[in-house]
Amino acid sequence: MRVHVANHPLITHKLTVLRDKQTNSQVFRHLVEELVTLLSYEATREVKIHPVDIETPVTKTRGAMLSLPRPVVVPILRAGLGMLEGMMRVLPSADVGFLGMVRDEKTLQASTYANRLPEDLSGRQCYVLDPMLATGGTLVAAFKYLIERGAKDITAICLLSAPEGVSTVEKAFEGSDFPITIVTGAIDEKLNEHGYIVPGLGDAGDRLYGVV
Ligand code: URA
Repeated sequence: MRVHVANHPLITHKLTVLRDKQTNSQVFRHLVEELVTLLSYEATREVKIHPVDIETPVTKTRGAMLSLPRPVVVPILRAGLGMLEGMMRVLPSADVGFLGMVRDEKTLQASTYANRLPEDLSGRQCYVLDPMLATGGTLVAAFKYLIERGAKDITAICLLSAPEGVSTVEKAFEGSDFPITIVTGAIDEKLNEHGYIVPGLGDAGDRLYGVV
């Protein structure tokens, strides 16, 4: 599994504003979109393209365009939804599938409560959007779900990650013979006893959409 920490100064700047508890929901949502767009640059490094011949106003030339089947973007509800717009800005032709996952606050186990995904994901590149890679339970469950449907190339984009979560995902997919990648803005210090990332940014869903 490849883990890429995109520690670009602009990403660090935007993450710092995001972490600040004084940052309101409106600014928070805007920053999440901007951050995903920046992270997607690295996440889509291996997106499949094929050569095409075109004519510029000056001459004939060979370029490249995205291949079919189209990539699938999978935001994990609820907080991953805040990342969708920023991702679709760079991959507007991608299909979008949804996975609703919730973690039990006591056991921290993730379970699926909703899904809207193509039955057959064979040959599709999947981009999972989940802002917080905390225990890793949600991401492991989401990846397994996609793999059961034939996905063989999965990249997760996470704004922040905990070292515990990264190593849980690494262990779960150790030795897998197809590309699994995590692209993240930072790997923080640790998880606290409630499964929150420290220093983190709090509950990403609540900060995006308010406490419901
Ligand atoms: N989910 C969040 O929203 N925040 C955390 O810190 C961990 C999981």
